[in-house]
Amino acid sequence: MKKVNSHTDSLSSNISVSDIAGGIPYDKSTDEKYMKKALQQARKAAKIGEVPIGCVIVYEDKIIGRGYNRRKKDKNTLSHAELIAIRKASRVMGDWRLEGCTMYVTLEPCQMCAGAIVQARMDRVVIAAMSPKSGCAGSIINLLQMDEFNHRVEITTGVLEKDCSSFLSSFFVDLRKRLKTENESVETGVVLNNEAEECDMKGNNT
Ligand SMILES: [Zn+2]
Repeated sequence: MKKVNSHTDSLSSNISVSDIAGGIPYDKSTDEKYMKKALQQARKAAKIGEVPIGCVIVYEDKIIGRGYNRRKKDKNTLSHAELIAIRKASRVMGDWRLEGCTMYVTLEPCQMCAGAIVQARMDRVVIAAMSPKSGCAGSIINLLQMDEFNHRVEITTGVLEKDCSSFLSSFFVDLRKRLKTENESVETGVVLNNEAEECDMKGNNT
């Protein structure tokens, strides 16, 4: 069954228990609580000059995996926040299956991470900001809810969307300013613009 909830519309009121995912009741304040934790992870990425994307994975109301984007630092395309968090959560669960788990992520997952989320059989993904140019949880394609795959993931969008998208936008504004003052190379500027474009979110007008 395909299901996408959005806190920006239908779940905007203070519903105590809005729905059930994999038998786990969830509500808006719980979603916001864990999205704040994901945002904390994104701040760690920003501190080391990475595009600030953060993620936590929750099982039975406990965080079992955290991750933030470290792609440049690790020089590894696999170092996306979601994959790092999945690796840690799997270690805690002692299993590649992450059934009963919910992922909170500040930006809509890419094709690689969405694929891993389906492979891990995650129950639910909660997303802050959508990413029209790279997102694969509904923007370009919805890999999380393909009828053809053997697992589908429940999606909730719009949780702390403003906080997360403005944080991402201000990161790029600051970086551009810094590059201007530090007179960095043209090459760095091109890389930066590509990253900004890749992460461009709905309503992001920077
Ligand atoms: Zn990714």
